[in-house]
Amino acid sequence: MKVLVTGGAGYIGSVTVEQLIEAGNQVAVFDNLSQGHRAAIHEDAKFIEGDLAHRESIDGAVTEFRPDAVMHFAAKSLVGESMQSPFLYLGDNVRNGLNLLESVVNHGIERFILSSTANLFDNPATIPIDEEASIVPGSPYGESKYILERMLHWLDRTGKLRFAALRYFNAAGATHLRGEDHAPETHLIPLVLQVALGQRKDIKVFGDDYETPDGTCIRDYIHVADLAQAHRLALHAIDQKSQVYNLGNELGFSVTQVLDTARKITGHPIPSEVVGRRPGDVATLVAASAKARADLGWKPAHPKISQIIESAWRWHFDHPHGYEK
Ligand code: UDP
Repeated sequence: MKVLVTGGAGYIGSVTVEQLIEAGNQVAVFDNLSQGHRAAIHEDAKFIEGDLAHRESIDGAVTEFRPDAVMHFAAKSLVGESMQSPFLYLGDNVRNGLNLLESVVNHGIERFILSSTANLFDNPATIPIDEEASIVPGSPYGESKYILERMLHWLDRTGKLRFAALRYFNAAGATHLRGEDHAPETHLIPLVLQVALGQRKDIKVFGDDYETPDGTCIRDYIHVADLAQAHRLALHAIDQKSQVYNLGNELGFSVTQVLDTARKITGHPIPSEVVGRRPGDVATLVAASAKARADLGWKPAHPKISQIIESAWRWHFDHPHGYEK
């Protein structure tokens, strides 16, 4: 299949491109390199440097490559930033997604896969969280993804395309060649590993007074290669029916448990300091992924937190300054 991947130079996008190419697909990466890295783009992918903010830019890419399917990763994705600058999300994320969808529909492309998020589930009533849980976006970021999910719903209902929206819980880990390199970095596992590399003095733990066994927040960490696998599987499944899927390991680990695992793996004491809560954080987010397992045959290959952190540690150790520095 010919797959156009927006954001294919970014973290989850670049690993998905790697798998799509290994599986024999032809891939074009559309990316403005604002957050992604040229060095993350697979050498066998066609690279189209462009910006979703400009309709003619994405129209040009679609006309040139003529994909059978589009995967849309390119977006701003920080909850905290979205609380500070809501229009980057309610504006740019939504407008850019709309530009892409209009282009896709106008060119008759009928398969679309959206990167969505667990940030649709603020204060969930039950854990683990399945696809029937009430949607309560936790931030303008979550809302921007939900707006795109709703657009896709109506494009499906009006017969324009079929889609899968994949709601990632906490993406983490790395392949041998591709890992997490954000500037600034805000995610727990890469920050912890920067301490182990001697690049930071300590890790700040955002609150230890949550309603969890050790008081720190619990998250469902899922290996980036397992998320990529879900995209590959969804590409074929959407020919039957549009669907939304929650993707996680169905296992939660607290911040303290992540730190302890990273200490064992790196052999570094990783000093930590408890500070105040981070606005927008909820106590516990754990996915119920039975639907993805049943419908897609999805089975995470690296479900253990130790495997996830080990793979990230290998990548950060080999790339102490990320891709290009
Ligand atoms: N966290 C932390 N210190 C940090 C970064 C994150 O204690 O420097 C916590 C954060 O409060 C959350 C968990 O680690 O409970 C995972 O945060 P991350 O930003 O990695 O992902 P999120 O859950 O926000 O998508």
